[in-house]
Amino acid sequence: MTHFLDVILPIPLQKAFTYHITEAEAQFLKTGMRVAVPFGKRKIYTALAYNVHNNPPTAYEPKTIHQILDESPVVTALQLKHWEWIAHYYMCTLGEVMRAAMPNAFILESETLISRNEAVTIKDSELKDDEFLIYEALHYQSSLKIQDIVAILDKKRILPVVNGLVEKGVLQLQEELYEKYKPKLVRYIRLHGHYKSEDKLQELLEILSRAPKQREVILALFHLRASEHRPIKVSELIKQSGATSAIIKALIDKGILEDYHIQTDRIQFEGEAPIASKILNETQKEAFNGIKTAFNTKSVVLLHGVTSSGKTEIYVKLIEEQLEAGKQVLYLLPEIALTTQLVQRMQGYFGEKVAVFHSRYSGNERVEVWHNLLANSEKAQLIIGARSALLLPFSNLGLIIVDEEHEQSYKQFDPAPRYHARDAAIVLASMHKAEALLGSATPSLESYFNANQGKYGLVELTKRYNNVLMPDIELVDLADKYRRKRMKGHFSDRLIEEMTETLDQGFQIILFQNRRGFSPIVECKSCGHSPQCPNCDVSLTYHQYRDQLRCHYCGYHTVMPKSCEACGNATLDTKGFGTEQIEGEVKALFPDQKVARMDLDTTRGKHAFEKIITSFEQRDIDILVGTQMLTKGLDFRHVKLVGIMNADNLLNFPDFRAHERSYQLMTQVSGRAGRTDVRGKVLIQSYNPHHNILQQVSTNAYNEMYTEQLNDRYNYKYPPIYRLIKLTFKHKDYNRVNLAADWYAKSLRQVFKSNILGPEFPPISRIRNLYNKNILVKIPPQQSLVQTKAAIKRIDNSFNAIKDFRAVRVIINVDNY
Ligand code: ADP
Ligand code: ZN
Repeated sequence: MTHFLDVILPIPLQKAFTYHITEAEAQFLKTGMRVAVPFGKRKIYTALAYNVHNNPPTAYEPKTIHQILDESPVVTALQLKHWEWIAHYYMCTLGEVMRAAMPNAFILESETLISRNEAVTIKDSELKDDEFLIYEALHYQSSLKIQDIVAILDKKRILPVVNGLVEKGVLQLQEELYEKYKPKLVRYIRLHGHYKSEDKLQELLEILSRAPKQREVILALFHLRASEHRPIKVSELIKQSGATSAIIKALIDKGILEDYHIQTDRIQFEGEAPIASKILNETQKEAFNGIKTAFNTKSVVLLHGVTSSGKTEIYVKLIEEQLEAGKQVLYLLPEIALTTQLVQRMQGYFGEKVAVFHSRYSGNERVEVWHNLLANSEKAQLIIGARSALLLPFSNLGLIIVDEEHEQSYKQFDPAPRYHARDAAIVLASMHKAEALLGSATPSLESYFNANQGKYGLVELTKRYNNVLMPDIELVDLADKYRRKRMKGHFSDRLIEEMTETLDQGFQIILFQNRRGFSPIVECKSCGHSPQCPNCDVSLTYHQYRDQLRCHYCGYHTVMPKSCEACGNATLDTKGFGTEQIEGEVKALFPDQKVARMDLDTTRGKHAFEKIITSFEQRDIDILVGTQMLTKGLDFRHVKLVGIMNADNLLNFPDFRAHERSYQLMTQVSGRAGRTDVRGKVLIQSYNPHHNILQQVSTNAYNEMYTEQLNDRYNYKYPPIYRLIKLTFKHKDYNRVNLAADWYAKSLRQVFKSNILGPEFPPISRIRNLYNKNILVKIPPQQSLVQTKAAIKRIDNSFNAIKDFRAVRVIINVDNY
């Protein structure tokens, strides 16, 4: 009998591809093993075995596979079932899901670039012949493609050799150069508690009169304490007093001074024994029990707890229980770059059981987490990761936590699979018969709706931990302030007053402005012309630091012109403002303070993000200016004031969720203020202080916001009442995009009548020289989603059969919000 194998290739193919296999291969192969296969004229891919059968393909002559790469499956049956759900639901191919799920090191292909790992040296004698040939070739060439290696070894079956060397760490894939960030621990110094009182202090100075050098140090410390409101670093004291470290050490040994590290409870995990988790207070215990009770009847529970209510500590207890029961836990975060803090906290509690899965970690580390999970190893019991961690081979999952469930970054926009990690997590949990806990201080409308409908359990925490008060939120009317000339640049007198007071008290400040750059719009005062990006339909943003105009969509940049390109007058003016301008103004207003900025422009470099966070935590920064990067669940101890420079551009954003998102964003930024004992203060500057959303933010009225927004969604037929599928058409030719989108819309209207919106150009209709046009399919609550998608698929097939349209890219985005 002839045997065939269907495989999933990591490329967008509509169907599985079939290969010819031998009797022995048919016996050995199991679904989820990798095989090396030829594809196209001369490409090699790593594919996944899907299905062994005896039916030859009808359309083509099947090739034979090169070889089998695994002894046992690396993808589990349940995992594959989940991938299939994603492909189906989000209307993409299984190959695209596979590509998103598997570390590159797992799916070597002809184009993969391989190089030597300089950090590892290996003796030639330890290498087999084939291995040696590759290794040696890499002494002469810094990198090789897999297809070069085929030529070097003069055979096709080379992937196991390369895989072996990659897994040993001798070779590495070229793109992976990311290293983990380890913050430097700064040593601080203070007077020992004994000497708090005036008397004891006098006594000390008496005693030290016989040790003048040591006395000098104590006096220098006083001096520093008087001028600085923040902890004093050992290095600063040495500088100020001119003493040697030996003298400082002597003082520490005598118990006069003591040194310490800030945030000693967030230990760096380096194999120390885990610390005990915190004891929950009554409110937290109630919530914890509420969650457990809810799980008796519901598989998904929403934990709605205000910022700093101690949600994370509740998660810790739930995780503990799961781990004790021998189950795996997945902890999803919206963006892993923002999680150094949390990972450290979890490693403190769960030590080596924590595994972090991060697309920026090296291939080896990701492969290791994969294998550990597959083997249900001790080392991967709690997986912390961003959305792609969802696609890992869990074998024994008990709980999924989706923290900050409202965050937009859970949705993948490009490339496919365009999945929403929260929703895909709920499906994954149900496949594993596991529990799913969604947590947020500002739940998404759809999750709160589901909870209200009784689909999810709901548990609420309305107070901050330790009864710390919610920040006091004050709205500042910009129109009034400008009229009465109470503004300095973009700062109202109120904001300046509060900033001054906060700094005097030794606390830190966060200033939020949702635009980067210096000013979004450059406009000529004479003719009104503003410079546009040549590739995109947007005005360029002025960046003062480089004196450049930049496009935030394609990266195009040019020097700031001296005069208007249209009329030639030297009357170019800037309008609006971004983080860079705010940073400049703060520096001018508070020249003695340390100011830093956190936005896409300052966090590009390696570890730049972590460095800013660490120096802010260590209080090397007094005022931090930033975009929404600042909002995501960061836990700073000494921030007392948060200023939102301008709420209006958030509120006026053209999107049906703009109001919901503004509420979430402002509440989350506000939540960074006053997380410990002092009450935080928030100032929101706006031209519309009476806007409902601002009123709701300032009174912490989530329910009111929810009811009002939901009402709008009913009236205007938007999620969570209606569902949406967005189709985007892209092509460099304007007319072709128009014709294609019109044809498609007409076909859709024949089926769905008035529930089709568009085609319409988005606000930015051209990006990177491609025109974009959108069609929105609105799906009423009673209409079948499956049938809707099937109808779209049919139309899509006919569309692709039209020669003129074939070159137009169609992107289908299910739940595009
Ligand atoms: P959330 O996740 O709701 O923003 P966190 O869990 O981060 O809140 O808690 C806020 C702060 O309160 C953290 O610094 C945390 O360590 C502290 N905290 C919360 N619960 C407890 C507890 N039971 N015992 C001691 N400290 C706690
Ligand atoms: Zn551009």
